[in-house]
Amino acid sequence: MTSPSVKDLPDWFREGYGNVWLPYTQMQTAEDALPVVGTEGVTLELADGTKLIDGVASWWTACHGYNNPRMQEQMIAQVKNMSHVMLGGLLHEGAATLARRLADLLPGDLNHVFFSESGSVSVEIALKMAVQYWMNKGETGHQRFVCFQSGYHGDTTAAMSVSNSGGDLENEGGMHKAFSGFLQQQFLRPLPETPTEMAEFDAFLAAHKDDIAGVVMEPLIQGAGGMKFHGADILAEISASCARHDVLLILDEIFTGFGRTGTMFACEQAGITPDIICLGKALTAGTVAMAATVATDKVYGAFLSDDPDMAFMHGPTYMANPLACAAANASLDIFRDEPVLEQVKRIEGHLNQSLEQFRELPGVVDVRVKGAVGVIQMKEIKDPAAMRARFAREGVWIRPLGDVIYLTPSFTIESHELAALTQAIDKVLNSAD
Ligand SMILES: *Cc1c(COP(=O)(O)O)cnc(C)c1O
Repeated sequence: MTSPSVKDLPDWFREGYGNVWLPYTQMQTAEDALPVVGTEGVTLELADGTKLIDGVASWWTACHGYNNPRMQEQMIAQVKNMSHVMLGGLLHEGAATLARRLADLLPGDLNHVFFSESGSVSVEIALKMAVQYWMNKGETGHQRFVCFQSGYHGDTTAAMSVSNSGGDLENEGGMHKAFSGFLQQQFLRPLPETPTEMAEFDAFLAAHKDDIAGVVMEPLIQGAGGMKFHGADILAEISASCARHDVLLILDEIFTGFGRTGTMFACEQAGITPDIICLGKALTAGTVAMAATVATDKVYGAFLSDDPDMAFMHGPTYMANPLACAAANASLDIFRDEPVLEQVKRIEGHLNQSLEQFRELPGVVDVRVKGAVGVIQMKEIKDPAAMRARFAREGVWIRPLGDVIYLTPSFTIESHELAALTQAIDKVLNSAD
């Protein structure tokens, strides 16, 4: 294991490296991990004092920048009072307040918040909720989900079954291909983009609605599956089609939620309310693990009964962790008090201008920007690890994903820091190696 941009690896790194199993990593050949010792604003500090401007905000989470003083203040106060209590039979102020605030912010009657600790689990919960919704209504069938090519909904079992990240319509070649025989078969469809495809999609729902529990999708941007964009009109039509055939719509806003696409939630741009929405990632602005699955009155209502068997059987140990609730409430305070969505607009304008120069470069297939997401689509990226190391040598933290180079910075990023990110991309794309 070598770490090219760090001169002297600290003892803790050399001694502990062999005991940490890194994500999505072939550990035998990895040259992957950099020793990070601190964060501040939009930068990561490495053990040798190198500072990297973070272009991806730690997997799209740190929307208000690192070490945000308002976040820190409320989290420290929470730790001093109560870091954690179980939610079984106990309710604390942070959870009640956060649930009410999310219900107020979300469109329509998405009023019922089920907390969990990771995005994948919030998707598992949404799928279980949808299946049991139909059972509680006394309708049999409704056990399968419609999902889309290039979608990504997490790495747990049911979440993998509705994902197709890096794959194709036959579900081959995707990041989870090793598990295809183990997973439940879902209805994997192309994302309908033309009127003809939309009509086909509608006909598909009509034909299979008795087997379908719900349609699962990432609205406006498919993230981990390649930063692929679609219009709000397509989202609105899919929603209308679901309503027409009485199929539940589950929107996974784990990536798109909390301002990333320019509105608080992506679904607002289509003027729709899904039946169930999944939130995660920036929910706690990149501080501690938390996710949520939020249901409408209609979905929630199907679980109300004097029959205990109709209750929802799920309950993560750390659900609604008070420290995470404090972080999420602090983040929502910042959204309330500061011009965060204007910061996103400013980033969008900057990226629209600065990424355009890459469109004509050899190997670049497309350049696209939505909200605080900037994407340079390459024909291919042969060695993403080498490219990542090149970016680190240029003083930036950018992780190519499949065949795209993307930026999803913190909303607090300054213009000169954004410029440093695009200059680094310029250098790397224009260099020979
Ligand atoms: C990251 C992500 C997930 C999974 O969330 P984890 O917290 O990593 O489990 C699910 N769906 C989408 C759209 C995501 O971006």
